Amino acid sequence: MIADLVCRALSLKSRSRDLRIQSNSYREITMTDRPALDHVTPDQHSVELRVLVDYCDSLLDSAAYQDYCPNGLQIEGRAVVSRIVTGVTASQALVDAAVEQGADLLLVHHGYFWKGEPAPLTGIKQKRIKTLLAGNVSLLAYHLPLDVHSELGNNVQLAKLMGWRVAGGLEPGNPRSIGLHGELAEALSGDALAKQLSRVLGRPPLHVAGNDRPIKRIAWCTGAAQGYIEKAIALGVDAYVTGEVSEPTVHIARENGIHFFAAGHHATERYGVKALGERLAQQFGIEHAFVDIDNPV
Ligand SMILES: [Zn+2]
Repeated sequence: MIADLVCRALSLKSRSRDLRIQSNSYREITMTDRPALDHVTPDQHSVELRVLVDYCDSLLDSAAYQDYCPNGLQIEGRAVVSRIVTGVTASQALVDAAVEQGADLLLVHHGYFWKGEPAPLTGIKQKRIKTLLAGNVSLLAYHLPLDVHSELGNNVQLAKLMGWRVAGGLEPGNPRSIGLHGELAEALSGDALAKQLSRVLGRPPLHVAGNDRPIKRIAWCTGAAQGYIEKAIALGVDAYVTGEVSEPTVHIARENGIHFFAAGHHATERYGVKALGERLAQQFGIEHAFVDIDNPV
């Protein structure tokens, strides 16, 4: 309870905070009891759900994307929002944390209803959605729009954290190129870049040293974009960074003489949703907590 009071006091000051939760210990977060806000009119520390959703849809230009999932409001909860939780994936652990935090809305990068998945609400899908509906918590999800956005997107946020200068898109000529390319502030060896990624992301990357030359020009695409390695090779960069790796990626890197780093799908995609949560806290005066559910991949 004391920890919770401290957290709430801190959040009232900054209205945005970080929580790191290991996958099995999320219940350590103490409960915050609060009334349902269905019939409450918004004040200076809350906003109507539809206003918040319209703001995000328009900010991220979500209607412009052909995506693998619906972008925007996926599950409707309370009509008024005063507290939001953000996280990478709407897993059961994150959903439970949002309910326990008393969130009105959960904002994620990986939501539900992916193309090709079975439609019936059974198994873990039923449990996750039931928890959100029972808690009256909305689910707001942005996938590609939150990878690509030029200020809040995962790719530009990763560059900011790593100190990389952005020169352009990984796919020249595509205004909505998902990945980016650019330059390091100063050339680094492959080992030195691996160490920096490990320090910044809190997780050691897998590094395939396709050559031993220093890295100055770099391309990157957060998430599972190992399939884009050839786009990076076509740009002539020294290194390509993404979240995941496949068996052929190693040979492609070696045979083309490029450094390849798999720095974690989850680890590289924390920062877009967190930046959007901070923006919403600032824009509407609402409380925001980023909840990091540990994921080694
Ligand atoms: Zn992803």
